[in-house]
Amino acid sequence: MKYTQPELPYKCEALEPVISRETVDYHYGKHEKAYIDNLNNLIEGTEWADMTLEEIISKANGPLFNNASQAWNHILYFFSFSPDGGGEPDGELGEAIKNQFGSFEEFKKQFEDAGAKLFGSGWVWLSRDDHGTLFISQGSNAENPLTKGLTPILTFDVWEHAYYLDYQNRRVDYLKKLWDIVDWDMVASRY
Ligand code: MN
Repeated sequence: MKYTQPELPYKCEALEPVISRETVDYHYGKHEKAYIDNLNNLIEGTEWADMTLEEIISKANGPLFNNASQAWNHILYFFSFSPDGGGEPDGELGEAIKNQFGSFEEFKKQFEDAGAKLFGSGWVWLSRDDHGTLFISQGSNAENPLTKGLTPILTFDVWEHAYYLDYQNRRVDYLKKLWDIVDWDMVASRY
């Protein structure tokens, strides 16, 4: 098996009350694991096994793209949080957010809005281009800004499996609460 699921840098209950232990158990332990298991099974013994995960995402389609991208997306998602998270980014990322969106509050509003309005399952992304320009975007299902040449630095999963146990149909409440656990040092390191 080429890809192993990275261990979380916090305990399953550490993100409570924003994300419950039960949600992490299912979302990380079953959903993310399944994408990585499927990816391994699909590439085993093929030319895809010699490529990086990013190369697979940029070249594959169908089930291989879906499972490769979902593996990548979930790793970014779960490694964007910390029980000590929250607050606001400072440094270059904080400046870029203020310059482009006017304020951190306005950035959060636009990001939440993109997540809330995405129809069906998918992701809301904050990405940068090679010049450091930031982009908020929506992605349906497994879509990932890597395929458009952008570098994702933060994502909120808006598939129902990410929030239904804790928030039922209240996706907006889930999006608003996630800010309390965002690890801005980690996000800034990707910027
Ligand atoms: Mn998910």
